[in-house]
Amino acid sequence: MSAQLLDGKSLSEKIITNIQTQVTGREASGLATPALAVILVGNDPASGIYVRNKRNACIKAGVRSISYDLPASTSQAELLALIDELNSDVDVHGILVQMPLPPQIDSETVIERIHPDKDVDGFHPYNIGRLAVRMPTLRSCTPYGVMRLLAMAHDDLKGLNAVVVGSSNHVGRPMGLELLLAGCTVTTCHRFTKNLAEFVSQADILVVAVGRPELVKGAWIKQGATVIDVGINRLEDGRLCGDVEFMPASERAAWITPVPGGVGPMTVAMLLENTLQAAKAADARLA
Ligand code: NAP
Repeated sequence: MSAQLLDGKSLSEKIITNIQTQVTGREASGLATPALAVILVGNDPASGIYVRNKRNACIKAGVRSISYDLPASTSQAELLALIDELNSDVDVHGILVQMPLPPQIDSETVIERIHPDKDVDGFHPYNIGRLAVRMPTLRSCTPYGVMRLLAMAHDDLKGLNAVVVGSSNHVGRPMGLELLLAGCTVTTCHRFTKNLAEFVSQADILVVAVGRPELVKGAWIKQGATVIDVGINRLEDGRLCGDVEFMPASERAAWITPVPGGVGPMTVAMLLENTLQAAKAADARLA
């Protein structure tokens, strides 16, 4: 392996320590402890693990986590009523609804119901739109976390060829917007892309977020590229792997993220950073 690892775990720990210092400082000067409402609907085991990780990270950062664990039978109207209540609660700065939701609830309706000022996941069309017009406010956590990882490897991304594989609303699309904002020449590949290998081989910066184990072959990677693997896939033998063939890719790349320990912890750190940012913005509105 010749590539250097982009260690999201240690970077996220530094970021969380920094947030904790800022929270303590806020409290000492009489400002509110940032508060995050975390809503889990149903018993999906993976969602349960993600929510537990987020709540534990809140504790480390000194952020107040308010838990709502709702039954799988919760109706859309009941969930929207809870969101309305949290939207108007001045003591709550961020609202997170863990996806996916049970089939009777439309996730887009839920995302749009969260007030953009409390949309700490950065999924609301208003916040994605602000990123699109170069006025980012609350940024989608995973792409924002990727940008922080890229800053470890690159002083400046301007003019680099960036290829994003995957175009979901919450990862691929805002990822392309972040890279465009940073001055990259951006290509987004998706399920209809013809000759994925050819696009990948042009990438100075490659971000893959598809959810298919080792879809991207190591031999496709440009020599010296930076490879960010967002994918998390559970193999039959229980191991986790990404969307990129790790070992062959790391023979060609200059920098690469591990799975796990790359993008995942950064997503959680950015959630907490957004919650702190939302609390600061609330202070400014009250001042
Ligand atoms: P998603 O919503 O299922 O989106 C996957 C995207 O990949 C879609 O845009 C899909 O196209 C596209 N796609 C499907 N097959 C493709 C192919 N053969 N070539 C190119 N693109 C293809 O998934 P997601 O939520 O974005 O997540 C992707 C992966 O990242 C998953 O493994 C997920 O677990 C992981 N993830 C990790 C984190 C983290 O913090 N580390 C955060 C979020 C997600 P269509 O739009 O046409 O369907």
